[in-house]
Amino acid sequence: MFADLHLHTYFSDGNFTPEELAALGKTHGLAAMALTDHDTVEGCPRMAAACAAEGIEFITGTELTAEQDGVELHLLGYCMDVENEKLLSEVGRFQAVRQNRIGEMVAKLNAIDVPLKVEAVFEIANCRSPGRPHVARALVKAGLCRSLDEAFDRFLKVGRPGWVPKCKISAGDAIRLIQQAGGVAVMAHPGLNKSDDVIPKMAEQGLDGIECFHTKHSAAAAKHYLKLAEDFHLLVTGGSDCHGTNKGRPLVGSVKLPYQYVEKLKQRAAERRKGLAVAHATHSTSN
Ligand code: AMP
Ligand code: FE
Ligand code: FE
Ligand code: ZN
Repeated sequence: MFADLHLHTYFSDGNFTPEELAALGKTHGLAAMALTDHDTVEGCPRMAAACAAEGIEFITGTELTAEQDGVELHLLGYCMDVENEKLLSEVGRFQAVRQNRIGEMVAKLNAIDVPLKVEAVFEIANCRSPGRPHVARALVKAGLCRSLDEAFDRFLKVGRPGWVPKCKISAGDAIRLIQQAGGVAVMAHPGLNKSDDVIPKMAEQGLDGIECFHTKHSAAAAKHYLKLAEDFHLLVTGGSDCHGTNKGRPLVGSVKLPYQYVEKLKQRAAERRKGLAVAHATHSTSN
């Protein structure tokens, strides 16, 4: 039995619906899937229903944009209560910043005489958590760029005229936000960061796991991170980071995480919820 625990839909920068993604998961024989859209849990209820319809176990998830020592990192949250108030209010704040950022990017493009309309981006971005890929798609659709790559290379990459930074929370705050919602905090694709120095620091801050298996990790990288996970007593996760057909062939199911790791993840989440319930009960009686 295998799982894919890193997947995106149109609720952030993917282009699959939850139903399309779950159907492909079924084709690949996945036993469990997690939805990890950027800075949102908006798609989780629909993905839960879509997975149930396909007989696939669903794990709630998100991928938060965080920062440690000035370096952007992505923190995956799993098994959270997606109705947790603090979680929803915080992601709501990130989403508001992302929505304003679309306007800022368009204004910067207009200032260099690229006549993109902000409405054209929001027509494509049918979600609360829009980002650069939606701007790129709108540029292509308006005939202002030939491809998504061209849009990023000319306008949207760091240092290009349309680039606007994102709102990032500190890695420690991201870990605590996920954990207070009963979730498990996992560092996404550490192999895409320039250095592993952040891992011990994050472990100190209570990080639960690292994503050892990822599309962009070689077999050697996966082995390296499995060893680090062991050294720092971290859980192991993995997933394809499928964004639909946005980046060519759909990747869902191409990274197969053995189900034993999902068991451990769920075990950690169950312990955390028990801990939170005890803390809550103690707090209530002491009041
Ligand atoms: P944002 O979160 O708005 O800064 O956008 C980041 C997202 O842009 C990443 O998650 C990728 O999905 C996407 N992206 C980054 N570079 C490229 C590229 N060259 N072509 C297509 N998509 C890209
Ligand atoms: Fe993405
Ligand atoms: Fe990521
Ligand atoms: Zn991702």
